[in-house]
Amino acid sequence: MRSTMQETPLSISTLLTFGSTVYGTSRVHTVTGDGLRTATFAEVGARAAQLAHALRDDLGIRGDDRVATFMWNNQEHLEAYVAVPSMGAVLHTLNIRLFPDQVTYIANHAEDKVVLVDGSLIPLLARVLPGFATVEHVVVVGEGDPAPLEGAGKTIHRYEELLAGKPTSYDWPAVDETDAAAMCYTSGTTGNPKGVAYSHRSIYLHSMQVAMPQSFYLNESNRVLTIVPMFHAMAWGIPYAALLTGATLVMPDRFLQPAALVRAIEQSGADFAGAVPTIWNDVLHHLDAHGGDISTLKRAVVGGSAVPPALMSAFEERYGMRIIHAWGMTETSPLGCVSHPPAGTEGEEAWAYRVTQGRFPAGVQARLAGPDGEIVPNDGVAVGELEVRGPWITGSYYRDEDPERFHDGWLRTGDVGTITADGYLTLSDRAKDVIKSGGEWISSVELENHLMAHPAVAEATVVAVPDPRWQERPLAAVVLHEGCSVSPAELREYLSGLIPKWQLPERWTYLKEVPKTSVGKFDKKEVRRAYAEGDLE
Ligand code: ADP
Repeated sequence: MRSTMQETPLSISTLLTFGSTVYGTSRVHTVTGDGLRTATFAEVGARAAQLAHALRDDLGIRGDDRVATFMWNNQEHLEAYVAVPSMGAVLHTLNIRLFPDQVTYIANHAEDKVVLVDGSLIPLLARVLPGFATVEHVVVVGEGDPAPLEGAGKTIHRYEELLAGKPTSYDWPAVDETDAAAMCYTSGTTGNPKGVAYSHRSIYLHSMQVAMPQSFYLNESNRVLTIVPMFHAMAWGIPYAALLTGATLVMPDRFLQPAALVRAIEQSGADFAGAVPTIWNDVLHHLDAHGGDISTLKRAVVGGSAVPPALMSAFEERYGMRIIHAWGMTETSPLGCVSHPPAGTEGEEAWAYRVTQGRFPAGVQARLAGPDGEIVPNDGVAVGELEVRGPWITGSYYRDEDPERFHDGWLRTGDVGTITADGYLTLSDRAKDVIKSGGEWISSVELENHLMAHPAVAEATVVAVPDPRWQERPLAAVVLHEGCSVSPAELREYLSGLIPKWQLPERWTYLKEVPKTSVGKFDKKEVRRAYAEGDLE
């Protein structure tokens, strides 16, 4: 029997219309360097309509044409987030921190037609624009001399001039909810980046999950400092979830240094935030050294790589901010699981849950595949590669056959760990980062977490390096706090109380800084390369 229910499509224009009317007085604040500039959601809605008119009437955007952004997190990026999908076109967020060759590959692969660029990013775009074969128009947002963009054969426009005088409402077309609304490429740690095309439906459902108490617990009273870039897995869904809940957005634009982030918290009264662990590590060191008032900031969702428990306890004990650990991928929209402890747990028991990657919601089915691809139980003991499926998990890559990444319709995540019967994921490593020593596996993440809990250690990463006897052994690359010194022998001694003796690294190197990827994760590939080429001391 068919249901009697209506089949109204789940769409971005529904989120936009709802957010800009019902929550029309909610705000988006953008950091300017000396303060905040502010627009209401009603204003964002009106300007999104103007942008859609400009894209259609002046720049010829039709059907599923791709409109790319090369932008920081700011009000205008939010306008593009809602205008482009609502008019039926596809928003493509370009990662400004990728290598030039990769950005060019992505823009051409997606066949972007228009690029919106922040004035402050003109010099960066100018380096790659001549290679953007399908791009016809570049729209400069904010101030900035467009001269470096000339000569690439594109027509250059100014955002505010395009919007001026356009109608402030738009007859948003009906969409098929399974059509693409936005796309994002993985950051390509190996090989070419891969494109994921999110649908209207997947974004809508994902936004609802993001807002839920078991995830980010957002409502109209929240002020959300969105540090995770809008070009990194759609800023974890926060912009769309804000429209759904009326939560105020605080956008840091290009002001991402720890001092600027602390100032943004002080000026905006942000009570919630999202960013990768390396950002919080820098903010913590800044606060410890220079002080600052982050007392409004009660909670932060942190993920993208494993969160060291020492970082969680430092923020909680010294600054009253609770870190909520979460796991996800570009391929999973990205929300996979979020680590809230089960109701009724306290103290050590609750902590043991909180340091896991988190608990899966109903929308994300999760299972583990053992070495031969057989499914092992979710019993908290059996280890396997995590596989997921659900309405906001990608089922393929855009114009890129990669059957290896899928297993009977499930996405293979490349992450290795356990799942408990009550749905908590604990990752030991990425399959490609785990250290295979004499037939046993050593978790690089576990070693890193222990090292980063040492008082002299600011950052630490552990990678596998070839070993004639054991096949692979761990190399520990350590960054010390200024003015601290600690020898490898002392660090081994410290670790020996925490991990089995055979796992203790015998190779050590000291770095000024751990190299980072385009989205701020430890770049283990670069550490392995530097070691192999003898660039490390
Ligand atoms: P990329 O794959 O290019 O790094 P993503 O941001 O999509 O870009 O990365 C997803 C991966 O990040 C996951 O597969 C996992 O390895 C890692 N990751 C994300 N969150 C966590 C976490 N909380 N703990 C450990 N690893 C994580």
